[in-house]
Amino acid sequence: MNRSTIWHPFTQHALEPPMRRIVSTEGAYLFDEDGKRILDAISSWWVITHGHRHPAIMEAIRTATETYDQIIFAEFSHGPAEKLAKGLIEVAPAGLRHVFYSDSGSTSVEVALKMALGYFHNWGEFRDRIVVMEHGYHGDTIGTMSTGERGVFNAAYEPLLFGVDRLAFPEAGQEQRTLDRFETFCRSGRVAALLIEPLVLGAGGMKMYGAGVLAGLKEITERHGSLLIADEVMTGWGRTGTMFACEQSNITPDILCTSKGLTGGALPLAATLCTGAIFDAHLSTDRRKTFFHSSSYTANPIACAAAVANLEIWRSEPVLERIENLAGLHRQNLERFHGDRRFAAIRQIGTIAALELAVPAGGYLAEVGPRMRQLFRERALLIRPLGNVIYLMPPYCVTAEELGCAYDAIDEVASIVLGKV
Ligand SMILES: *Cc1c(COP(=O)(O)O)cnc(C)c1O
Repeated sequence: MNRSTIWHPFTQHALEPPMRRIVSTEGAYLFDEDGKRILDAISSWWVITHGHRHPAIMEAIRTATETYDQIIFAEFSHGPAEKLAKGLIEVAPAGLRHVFYSDSGSTSVEVALKMALGYFHNWGEFRDRIVVMEHGYHGDTIGTMSTGERGVFNAAYEPLLFGVDRLAFPEAGQEQRTLDRFETFCRSGRVAALLIEPLVLGAGGMKMYGAGVLAGLKEITERHGSLLIADEVMTGWGRTGTMFACEQSNITPDILCTSKGLTGGALPLAATLCTGAIFDAHLSTDRRKTFFHSSSYTANPIACAAAVANLEIWRSEPVLERIENLAGLHRQNLERFHGDRRFAAIRQIGTIAALELAVPAGGYLAEVGPRMRQLFRERALLIRPLGNVIYLMPPYCVTAEELGCAYDAIDEVASIVLGKV
């Protein structure tokens, strides 16, 4: 049995072959130790937006290391964090006024939950419920696991997870049921916040719902004085076709979490943006009303400099145009699968495309994911299906030809797995 010194994330070492070593990255590709070029069709777990090692971001990192390393962020400020905060407020949905830094998507959500609870606590209003959506995913810390879908991934930690109220996923035609349920929860007067992934539930299986549902949920929070926390950790930075998914619903959440694409995927960094009202609820000469949160590496200047460079890329390069082209390529490629009985639930939003392999449920279902992953790797593709859900979320630099190869592989792998070749 392979007792790896390094304990890899989400990896069953007893079942996986030893990891291949990646020796370099470039654009849409990873290069491994055997000289093999692997197309990164899932943007290295959704973080790489423009492509690996965008020159401007690499340059910004090199330059920042001439002047900075980590600086305590409780007593001091620094240029990269200030420039980034200003830039984030400019590009975020109108009405978000303050930026709190942390280091990962999970911590950005933890911060959001604490902001929401702190807001009501400091106001002296008793609200203790968090509402989430079925199939949601918000991270792997105890707090964010509590808010995510329960299952085999967190069964061992169940005793420590706190209770939340769950909304049924708004399947097409069932949207009103979800809205009504939320309204019922809110009538208790105890709902502090709705925490939700806007328009796409990522790790829960790339489940997509309409912009109108999000707008409806926001309207209900307003009517009941609850807060809306948009977890844009995956959806941010153009993934759904707009810089932030909330734009498509024409809403400004009270709190917005961003991480994955914030530095273009180059360095770990996260930010939680909030309205003036939430900041002001913590603004007091009474020290007990302080927002008590920090991590050692808050607002790392080098990571902030990378994110500033990312913002500059959005300003100076036709990023949205690339995204639109990529969305169009997905649409064309998906067409060949419409009416194909090997697949179900073909769907797309912006740069994300997903389809489900039509397999019987049960043990077989659990095995098809790893099997397909292996077959994709043999074809020099990094694609990690979520169970029977195959999805592509490539970096925006991917070409029509490269994407076409990925779709050809899906076609071929589906037939192999279903035993049709
Ligand atoms: C990935 C993800 C997170 C967690 O981010 P990490 O950086 O892995 O901690 C939270 N929310 C959503 C929607 C995500 O996709």
